[in-house]
Amino acid sequence: MATTVIPQIQTSVSEFVAKPRKMLIGGKWVDAVSGKTFETYNPATGEILAHVAEGDKADIDLAVKAARKAFESGAWPETSPSERGRLLWKLAELIDQHQEELAELETLDNGKPVFFSRIVDVPTASDAFRYYAGWATKVEGSTIPISAPGARYLAYTLREPVGVAGQIIPWNFPLIMASMKLGPALAVGCTCVLKPAEQTPLTALRLGELIMEAGFPDGVVNIVPGFGETAGAALAAHPDVDKIAFTGSTEVGKLILNAASGNLKKVSLELGGKSPNVILQDADLESAIPGSAMAIFFNQGEICCAGSRLFAHKSIFDKVVEGVAGFAKSFHVGPGIDPANNMGPLVSQEQQERVCGYLESGARDGAKAVVGGKKVDRAGYFVEPTVLVDVKPSMKVVREEIFGPVVTAIPFGDLDEVASFANESIYGLASGVWTRDISKAHRLGAKLKAGTVWINCYNVFDSALPFGGYKQSGWGREWGKPALDLYTETKSLCARI
Ligand code: NAP
Ligand code: MG
Repeated sequence: MATTVIPQIQTSVSEFVAKPRKMLIGGKWVDAVSGKTFETYNPATGEILAHVAEGDKADIDLAVKAARKAFESGAWPETSPSERGRLLWKLAELIDQHQEELAELETLDNGKPVFFSRIVDVPTASDAFRYYAGWATKVEGSTIPISAPGARYLAYTLREPVGVAGQIIPWNFPLIMASMKLGPALAVGCTCVLKPAEQTPLTALRLGELIMEAGFPDGVVNIVPGFGETAGAALAAHPDVDKIAFTGSTEVGKLILNAASGNLKKVSLELGGKSPNVILQDADLESAIPGSAMAIFFNQGEICCAGSRLFAHKSIFDKVVEGVAGFAKSFHVGPGIDPANNMGPLVSQEQQERVCGYLESGARDGAKAVVGGKKVDRAGYFVEPTVLVDVKPSMKVVREEIFGPVVTAIPFGDLDEVASFANESIYGLASGVWTRDISKAHRLGAKLKAGTVWINCYNVFDSALPFGGYKQSGWGREWGKPALDLYTETKSLCARI
């Protein structure tokens, strides 16, 4: 089997990618029932990185059976909340202990700069488990004074785990996505079947090893790598899965919804975005310009909440465009594993072609690239950080999610105008407002139809801060306390006394 020799990585990482990776079902590492494997690629070179067991419907069936057994036997839901919390905390510690290894693995599989994997991806993942470890002992019902006539009653609610949770995640933040899905589900007592993205299964599989090392009972977490159309679809449609949590495109989100209708499993969706980032006339440009550049260019723009529609007041528009374009020019674009680079490749050739397709459509429609505008002429899936001007709301580059390092810049006149521009989208995931005027910030913040409004900052995430979408950006909120609701049922008990 062809494997790539990669300089500058830890031995544990090269050993991990050198061995064909199996899937985790019922506490055991197993091959696919079909015996099939698929390749994952290093997007910085286009070469094969690792071979991974290819799960499909048969493997999903086995994983759901294992998760059901761990749930119904009480192996997990009847583990005391304090013990569940202790295991989640232990997992967080193991992630931190393996920070460098996980960071390198994430960068090799996804492409992102290893600096970011180290300071963002791995610590965010461990913090997710630490945060939800704290919740395990605090999922409370309530006592309810009721007024039904003729007798006295004691009424109260219990919060119970929903059961077996299926979780399908994308490739842009593979380890964070796995952790933010598993953390709340495990804290409340659900058992899980996780399907990572085909492009980036490696850190989820390494996480599976750490989950077993931490001491979680067999079958509590099952990890089945494979393709969306086979493994993912089987999980979404499975009659014995009680809940499906999905992060990915709006298009596939709708397929998940249809697939879930067979047994009306609970559904939560984190979908796409085309988030507006608004710079008002009085903003501090010293922070608004770099902040707006990172709003789009962080993670190569492969982030659902990317500030991909930049609106700047007409009096400062040219200065803002020049500043963001200058920032784009300053990036060192190259393999993420080399610490000298601060922008990596896109995740796959497919994604590179998709983004370049948008750049071509923008050019055809009359958009002008102030900087960037094409792929980088070298091996790997690199695209130049790009700022487009002369764009109109009707253009595809303004309406559709590009999911790459491409921002459209549009001038505006007043608050009402920019609020209506900003809300002119099928999406409503996030938004940004830059101003020194606190009252304008909150007035505009209230008008924006988005699950998150960042004021004088962007891409600020916290395990405690709910995140999710308005409109076609999704259903439900992840992170924070609301994520617990996604994985629990409320039971009302009413006793005549
Ligand atoms: P995608 O096709 O929606 O894939 C996401 C996940 O769904 C992957 O695990 C994929 O498996 C799986 N999948 C694909 N088809 C499926 C099906 N028919 N049934 C069940 N599962 C299926 O997304 P993508 O194109 O890879 O990623 C980019 C998109 O994801 C962007 O639109 C972006 O906005 C969105 N996204 C949103 C968020 C958020 O938090 N809202 C975060 C990240 C990405 P395979 O990988 O094997 O196809
Ligand atoms: Mg796919």
